[in-house]
Amino acid sequence: MPAKPATINRSRPDVAVIGAGITGLWAAIKAAEAGLTVLVIEAAEPGAGASGGLVGALMPHQPSGWTPKKALQLDGLLTLPGEIAPLEAATGLSAGYRRTGRIMPISTMQEAARHREWSAGAESHWPGAFGWQAQVALPDASWLDPVAAAHGAALDTLAARLNPRGMVEVLAMALRQSHASAVDWLTGKGVSSISADCAIKLNDGTVISVGNVLIATGINAFELISPIVRRNTGTGVKGQAALLTPIQPVSAAELPVIYAAGLYVIAHDNGLIAVGSTSENAYSDAQSTDVQLERLIAQAQGVCPALRGATVVERWAGVRPKHESRGPVVTPLPDAPHVIALLGAYKIGFGIAHLMGAEAVGHVTGSKGPWRDVLLQGWT
Ligand SMILES: Cc1cc2nc3c(=O)[nH]c(=O)nc-3n(C[C@H](O)[C@H](O)[C@H](O)COP(=O)(O)OP(=O)(O)OC[C@H]3O[C@@H](n4cnc5c(N)ncnc54)[C@H](O)[C@@H]3O)c2cc1C
Repeated sequence: MPAKPATINRSRPDVAVIGAGITGLWAAIKAAEAGLTVLVIEAAEPGAGASGGLVGALMPHQPSGWTPKKALQLDGLLTLPGEIAPLEAATGLSAGYRRTGRIMPISTMQEAARHREWSAGAESHWPGAFGWQAQVALPDASWLDPVAAAHGAALDTLAARLNPRGMVEVLAMALRQSHASAVDWLTGKGVSSISADCAIKLNDGTVISVGNVLIATGINAFELISPIVRRNTGTGVKGQAALLTPIQPVSAAELPVIYAAGLYVIAHDNGLIAVGSTSENAYSDAQSTDVQLERLIAQAQGVCPALRGATVVERWAGVRPKHESRGPVVTPLPDAPHVIALLGAYKIGFGIAHLMGAEAVGHVTGSKGPWRDVLLQGWT
């Protein structure tokens, strides 16, 4: 039987966004806001990749050794709430965003010294409303165990959190409701290849011709662009995370994110507490969880008494897309100026995807935004 042809309403959309994770969804919003017609092509469903996780930490880079990439991330964290609010108002959904700050237990004198350095860095580089306090009073002992904070704790007041799945839902709904006349969807359709002149071939053999292609397929983006750029430009790092219901309900609004030696503990508005994440450069199964996650949960319970005796309601694993530069990249591909790749948001995707989306659309419309050069920087 011949493959069923793809159904789209327009013969040639201005832009096809491939991949409906956080990066592709923001890019589609920015494209629709710029007046472009958009086709979103997603192999499974929105949030099927790394963006459908549990953690949602919005953590600034350490504010010393300042770089353009840190400046971009700072802008992302400062502007994100203003971007989310109108989408939440339009859709009636919540992304679970809150600027909670981040408390960091200090276990050695050396760590304490580093926090003083970051405190000075924040004074130089962050707006006055936010700071990195090198030594603060410990919060409620049921949230951060004083034993885990032998040398006290530091607090950064810029950090925030959101609910990843809530954020994906808000963006997808905004596209379906507020931008329905400009945006078409093809879900459950994987893209197998893209030509330099913007012909998109689906796994079922259908070919769709569009004006511009934005590739936002997370870890799969490296594979999709390699036939055009003739090499692999990135890799993936697996992470495992868990969601727990505490025995005693917590007041999420009052609780800062805990960050302790790579561990995040985040109280979400829905009453659940997320624990993340492992960092695995080598893995055989991208979606399985194992003893590394159990160790992380035990570590979290050591630091955060509220998690002791809690029920694990979900264990989850995903793969973070990491470009070879380690930074986020938005670039038209060589000899394919209308094929634009959004690559490697790695650990900070939720904080900067709106900026990546805007710059990707800027390549289409010819308007250069403030972060174009930084996002081109890692591309060689
Ligand atoms: C365990 C873990 C914890 C993390 N914690 C945080 C955190 O706390 N804060 C933070 O900011 N970031 C965090 N990250 C990173 C963040 O999740 C990523 O940076 C971000 O989700 C990447 O989004 P994306 O849209 O680029 O990719 P994805 O979310 O992976 O989306 C890609 C989409 O493309 C689709 N797709 C793939 N191939 C094709 C194809 N050929 N055709 C069509 N569609 C295709 C997929 O189905 C998927 O929906 C974490 C990641 C992991 C794994």
